[in-house]
Amino acid sequence: MAKKVKVCKFCQEKIEEIDYKDIGTIRRYITPRGKIISSKQTGTCSRHQRQLAKAIKRARFVALLPFMKI
Ligand SMILES: [Zn+2]
Repeated sequence: MAKKVKVCKFCQEKIEEIDYKDIGTIRRYITPRGKIISSKQTGTCSRHQRQLAKAIKRARFVALLPFMKI
């Protein structure tokens, strides 16, 4: 079994600020319905989780993420 270490990916990659244009990364942190996955599940630290929420909101605003596909 692969070891599952819950480390904040953004800290690991030394990302200071999450780029809302980085859809590939952001996508991994939202559910198919467009909800932010909790930090407990992703291992994201609270600092980056807050940034993530902001980035997602912004990405949604500029319609980079197809949220309204129901
Ligand atoms: Zn972090």
